[in-house]
Amino acid sequence: MRVLLVEDDAMIGDSIKISLMRDNCIVDWVRDGRMVETAVSTEHFDLVLLDLGLPGKSGLEILRGLRQKRESVPVIVVTARDAVDDRIKGLDSGADDYVVKPFDMDELSARMRSAIRRSTGRAEPDIRLHGLRISPGSREIWRDGVPVYLSGKEYAIFEALVIRPGNILSRDQLEERLYGWGDELDSNAIEVHIHAIRRKLGSNIIKNVRGVGYLVPKEKPAE
Ligand code: CA
Repeated sequence: MRVLLVEDDAMIGDSIKISLMRDNCIVDWVRDGRMVETAVSTEHFDLVLLDLGLPGKSGLEILRGLRQKRESVPVIVVTARDAVDDRIKGLDSGADDYVVKPFDMDELSARMRSAIRRSTGRAEPDIRLHGLRISPGSREIWRDGVPVYLSGKEYAIFEALVIRPGNILSRDQLEERLYGWGDELDSNAIEVHIHAIRRKLGSNIIKNVRGVGYLVPKEKPAE
């Protein structure tokens, strides 16, 4: 998943970024509150991790601004231990959840997965469709009960598509899942990965909508 990390403290930001990357997340890190709205409106993020005390614009102002613009990206607010008031204001301003500094990275990862799950209207942790079971927590996939292994990049692409079945993502949006800002990418990287995913999970699992993008089809309701 692709995460926008908003944190002005270099040490905290660095350690969060490293942990998230170890968790296979693509992390874009901004330190100034004024950069958040532009980032969210120009790039697709699965989640925003938002510190409240920021230069330029406070976390709460940012949050209210995003929600006023109907940006529905899940936001987890990061607050100080004694700032109960901030936590309440954060949740009231449209945050999906919060973590208290210093926090455990495993707990943060679990809260991130849960916030994304709720934002997609799913109550069950595992995704089941087309004979597949996908467990975003452990990144495990089973096809008709048999485990299937995708590479990190293949998984990132597949997860982006399967989290919202029926939703088309363009090649650019998929490329964003693979690379943070400024990284080089091969022009046919997405096609190569999708070919590998189809080979492992079935040729019809990802559909190509010519000139538009890719999707994992919704499952037809049983008749
Ligand atoms: Ca701060």
